[in-house]
Amino acid sequence: MANIVAIVGRPNVGKSTLFNRLTESRKAIVDDFSGVTRDRHYEVAEWIGKKFTAIDTGGFVHGSDDIFEEAIRDQVHIAIEEATVIIFMVDVTTGITDLDDEIADLLRRSSKPVYVVANKVDHAKLHHDSAEFYAFGLGEIYNVSAATGSGTGELLDAVVSHF
Ligand code: GDP
Ligand code: MG
Repeated sequence: MANIVAIVGRPNVGKSTLFNRLTESRKAIVDDFSGVTRDRHYEVAEWIGKKFTAIDTGGFVHGSDDIFEEAIRDQVHIAIEEATVIIFMVDVTTGITDLDDEIADLLRRSSKPVYVVANKVDHAKLHHDSAEFYAFGLGEIYNVSAATGSGTGELLDAVVSHF
């Protein structure tokens, strides 16, 4: 049985940056293969000897805002079905948005383990700002900086504990 970790969240929170760090690849960048923009990206990753498949969601074809939000909801539903563990990424520099709340509502109804990851915690002084994400009711908040890698080790320790 494959171990699958899906990274979900609204655009620009840093999903692809984390995916690249986990998989040490540049393949999360939109792949224009055959003129078809793929909307998900799978790559094998490994942490403390445990292998898993990471899924980067996003990279959608931009349409109206409604279609865009619908596409994100679809991705969350697929992640809930396919993933062993879900990483729900939010952005500490913007705080909670309506779309974050919508995604949180979907994830609360899932029986899969969900890790709320506050990204862009680039400085220690931002650690306290992420406390607002406890309002999702999805448990512990993991502070990371996908850009520097800070906090990603603790997150991965928790994620691979399911495998
Ligand atoms: P995605 O749309 O969720 O896949 O987000 P991306 O990974 O494409 O990142 C969106 C923007 O946030 C880019 O400009 C990244 O460089 C930036 N970003 C990602 N992670 C961090 C981080 O930890 N700190 C800061 N300051 N910026 C970040
Ligand atoms: Mg992306």
